[in-house]
Amino acid sequence: MFERAVLVHYHEIGLKGKNRGAWERRLADNIAFVLGDLTDSAVQRVASRVMVRVSDIHKLEQIIERVSLVPGVSYLADVLITSREPHDMERAALMAARQFPLARTFAIQARRSATDFTERSLEINRRLGAYVQAETGLGVNLTSPDVRVCVEVVQGEVYTYARRIEGPGGLPTGVSGTIVSLLSAGIDSPVATWRMIRRGAVAVGVHFSGRPQVDASSERFADEIAQVLARTGGMARLYVVPFGDLQREISLVAPPDLRVLLYRRLMIRVAEKIAAVERAGALVTGESLGQVASQTLENIAAVDAVATMPVLRPLIGDDKNDIIGIARKIGTFEASTRPHADCCTLFMPRTPETHATVRQVEAGEVDLDLDRMVSDALGGLTWTDYPCPSYKPPKRWRDAEA
Ligand code: ATP
Ligand code: MG
Repeated sequence: MFERAVLVHYHEIGLKGKNRGAWERRLADNIAFVLGDLTDSAVQRVASRVMVRVSDIHKLEQIIERVSLVPGVSYLADVLITSREPHDMERAALMAARQFPLARTFAIQARRSATDFTERSLEINRRLGAYVQAETGLGVNLTSPDVRVCVEVVQGEVYTYARRIEGPGGLPTGVSGTIVSLLSAGIDSPVATWRMIRRGAVAVGVHFSGRPQVDASSERFADEIAQVLARTGGMARLYVVPFGDLQREISLVAPPDLRVLLYRRLMIRVAEKIAAVERAGALVTGESLGQVASQTLENIAAVDAVATMPVLRPLIGDDKNDIIGIARKIGTFEASTRPHADCCTLFMPRTPETHATVRQVEAGEVDLDLDRMVSDALGGLTWTDYPCPSYKPPKRWRDAEA
């Protein structure tokens, strides 16, 4: 048996000149972090890639699955590592080709990254190709083969692989700062959060629960969603804010058609306080233009008017179907579609305002003691932490579970 490894490729970090070394180290550290004790060998950086040697073959699939979720990973290869002896190379090429039992055609694609190896790439292709063809009877197709066996000769050894697994792409967690994401238990905001995680941000979620006016079911699903997102290594913490009494208070004094917007404006104010403590650079929501009544340009402006930091909306131009597609792919869809008590539907009128002005919503708020409401919200805060390599809890809220 040959040694097995997972060879991790990235592309974008390759471009970032000065940052490159630090970012590569970050990616390697993040991969080591999500693997935990699944691997006993070090995660190494080799020639613009990251190598995870697999000592226990039974853990290979688990290692592949975990690494394939890590931001910054473009794709990974399931690699056989051999000596540079001709027969070892041939047997490895054969083994790699045989990982695809249904294939009818193949190609060998060799590359030399070591100058002390005299056989040229084309010669390697021919030699290994002839061997695989003789052993399997597969046809050669250089332009669109069913299986492409990649062979890379490096210093002292050879990497051979045919199996490639796509990663999320993006940037390593921790290179883009922290964002505070308004995380409902719906479909959109988990996808928006994931998009930011993929771009290298550490995500801190804030979930507004209708408790005590309704049960805590949405909190459980938000936690479940955060656990799924945490498999990327980019989801650090989820704050839960009991919001039901505050919504009730709003509903008692504010015009019914403005309620949702006033809930949202209060959510933004609370989330900004949390963002300040977390030293986050932006808030994130899952809004998409025109998707529901509260997501018109006018209403977005009416909500944004209370924000002092950027409110990012990574899904603003996406169709629901595309968002659902991503939710399924990243694994949040199921938890996002369980019936739960959603705080937004509390005390809701039949006809919410779709074209509110800032003046209107400000007038709707005049009888509210907003400072007190924000501090009530923060007073009821609880949180859950998830494994995240680049996160340091803020001093003020350090202990587990307030
Ligand atoms: P989602 O699918 O994310 O719940 P939605 O389509 O239900 O979004 P809205 O209800 O208008 O749309 O919510 C818009 C955004 O406001 C959400 O994407 C989310 O970022 C934030 N938000 C709404 N409700 C909550 C909540 N209970 N807790 C935290 N954030 C929320
Ligand atoms: Mg929702």
